Amino acid sequence: MDFATAFRSAAENADDPRSRQLASNLAAVHERIDRARHRAGRTDRPELIVVTKRFPAEDVRRLLELGVRDIGENKDQEAAAKAAEVATWLSEENASTPAASEEPLAASSSELPRWHFIGQLQTNKAKSVVRYAHSVQSADRPKLIRSLAAAANTAAEEGVRRHPLEVLIQVDLRSPLPEDHRGGAAPTEVLALAEQIASSDQLQLGGLMAIAPLGEAPAPAFARLGELSQLLTSEHPEATAISAGMSQDLESAVSCGATRLRIGRDVLGERPSH
Ligand SMILES: *Cc1c(COP(=O)(O)O)cnc(C)c1O
Repeated sequence: MDFATAFRSAAENADDPRSRQLASNLAAVHERIDRARHRAGRTDRPELIVVTKRFPAEDVRRLLELGVRDIGENKDQEAAAKAAEVATWLSEENASTPAASEEPLAASSSELPRWHFIGQLQTNKAKSVVRYAHSVQSADRPKLIRSLAAAANTAAEEGVRRHPLEVLIQVDLRSPLPEDHRGGAAPTEVLALAEQIASSDQLQLGGLMAIAPLGEAPAPAFARLGELSQLLTSEHPEATAISAGMSQDLESAVSCGATRLRIGRDVLGERPSH
């Protein structure tokens, strides 16, 4: 059964109204992804990361029950609290299997969500993020990568992490690029950052991430990202991830080769504004 059909059927069978709504939104998003892939002649399928920022941990739990594992968050404080809350629920549910409660938050246990950190990150938050994150998609400067590497090493030594942290390089796609750019590396910086990530034992270079620049059509920007990805994989063949595409531009991202989509609004609804 394909994703859209599976979520359509979950939408009919879930017991609470919010779960039915989430399932029905997921079905609609998967239908859009399928239409976009077919139009683009793609036989592979981009992965969907559901962005739950500003929505409560209960929604993450509903998503898990619907079979969604990949969850995106953009603020450490909020993400750390949700990761702890979800892990506590799951270990309570599995109280009969004692090993579950000792599972580190960032473990790739089949039960726990894979938390994808997608927001601007200050270096002093690296220690916290590596305790729960499966991946950090917003690496954009040498100092942050050094902090992530050091924190991931410590976490591995303490047994808090059992797997290297996946790291994606966030690229600022604005063209021309303003000199004071923040929240994304310049395209010319990508290879040096990639080298730095690849040379750390506890970091695993995943690929690239970008947000479509405001006030510009997304397709040409995502096409530049695709070219940059070819340059990156020519030196790092394993770093194939292209994380691009949000609710309003997922079709352009799929047609430009995105392998991961980060969708919030069109699954969860309008974000609470606090
Ligand atoms: C919030 C956010 C998303 C999701 O955006 P929607 O418009 O809600 O789909 C994707 N990527 C990043 C980096 C975000 O901060």
